[in-house]
Amino acid sequence: MVVGREAPGYFGPFGGRFVPETLIPALEELERTYLTLKDDPSFKEELSLILRDYCGRPTPLYYAERLSKENGRAKIYLKREDLAHTGAHKINNAVGQILLAKYMGKRRIIAETGAGQHGVAVATVCAKFNMECCIYMGEEDIKRQKLNVYRMKMLGAEVIPVSSGSKTLKDATNEAIRDWVSNVDTTYYLIGSVVGPHPYPTIVRDFQRIIGEETREQILAKEGRLPDYIIACVGGGSNAIGIFHPFLEYSQVKLIGVEAGGKGLTSGLHAASLNAGRIGVLHGCKSYVLQDEDGQIVNPYSISAGLDYPGVGPEHAFLKEIGRATYVTVTDEEALEAVMILARSEGIIAALESAHAVAYALRLSKTVDEESIVIVNLSGRGDKDMSTLIDHFRMGVE
Ligand SMILES: *Cc1c(COP(=O)(O)O)cnc(C)c1O
Repeated sequence: MVVGREAPGYFGPFGGRFVPETLIPALEELERTYLTLKDDPSFKEELSLILRDYCGRPTPLYYAERLSKENGRAKIYLKREDLAHTGAHKINNAVGQILLAKYMGKRRIIAETGAGQHGVAVATVCAKFNMECCIYMGEEDIKRQKLNVYRMKMLGAEVIPVSSGSKTLKDATNEAIRDWVSNVDTTYYLIGSVVGPHPYPTIVRDFQRIIGEETREQILAKEGRLPDYIIACVGGGSNAIGIFHPFLEYSQVKLIGVEAGGKGLTSGLHAASLNAGRIGVLHGCKSYVLQDEDGQIVNPYSISAGLDYPGVGPEHAFLKEIGRATYVTVTDEEALEAVMILARSEGIIAALESAHAVAYALRLSKTVDEESIVIVNLSGRGDKDMSTLIDHFRMGVE
């Protein structure tokens, strides 16, 4: 059941395939299909056309001049994933995996969603590819994220409420896995981040690598050199690994992942798996997990629903262990402040997830050398967060 330490699917001691035996053939089929297709010219051509004409790639790399000059010494660039179709980087992975499903002849797609962002991306590509779409979502999240539930329904998806446990993302994931075990012959499970059993963390990373590949070309064209820092928020870790990965080989480029510090690490109300979790197994892979002394999963907390996951991708655990990337935390308050600073200086309303990365860039910019180049992955836009922002900033309608 479990592949060895050096086997594919492991990042150092992290990753693997901790799943019921019934799923092993499906994971092996997925791995075989992926390895064949990833270098297939017609698959690559089809994917790149969709990314260009449907998703709006390449997304711009934007020099945020006022943000930079008014807040410190660095030149801050924003990689504008907020401008991608459906408002975040998640579509890159949804498009890639739906093509895998199509080539595998599977017409029923299942997925889990927390805030509904991944559910919306999956429902979107299912509409485009005429696939049946079932999205598992916790009842608590359904209540909190009504607009995304309506979006998914509008796009033709069935949203299945999950009433077990804390009625949130990890419970929805358990139900999606249960569905997959029963319907594995006809059904493709479209995972939304670099988590889950091998080969998902690798597949999702490869579909998100486009962010970093574009960034590398764009910064070389604009500045004639690589950046000093790349900063990205980390929930499951897909937007971060996507922008980090093409830069791993350039040791002068410092990579910083920002976890949700919530109300502060000492409060216990956070989602900082790498900073405050312990090694364990969650949803089929070994990584850092938020758990208590008995190994029970601790409910994560963040003001941004997309960072609210008790685990983290195994490759991030590995990058932390070998010291190639560092992982810091930013609190709710700092993220909210960063949303406002960015809105007022650049006219860009960021997603609360992405604002964690912006907040850290602003902190860093006060300490670095003049003209240091900092790139922030602006993973998504803030439309979905407006009601949270309205409440926080008490923006009444007079
Ligand atoms: C889902 C989401 C995230 C967190 O997911 P990762 O897999 O860590 O990237 C970050 N930003 C936005 C805008 C999201 O929608």
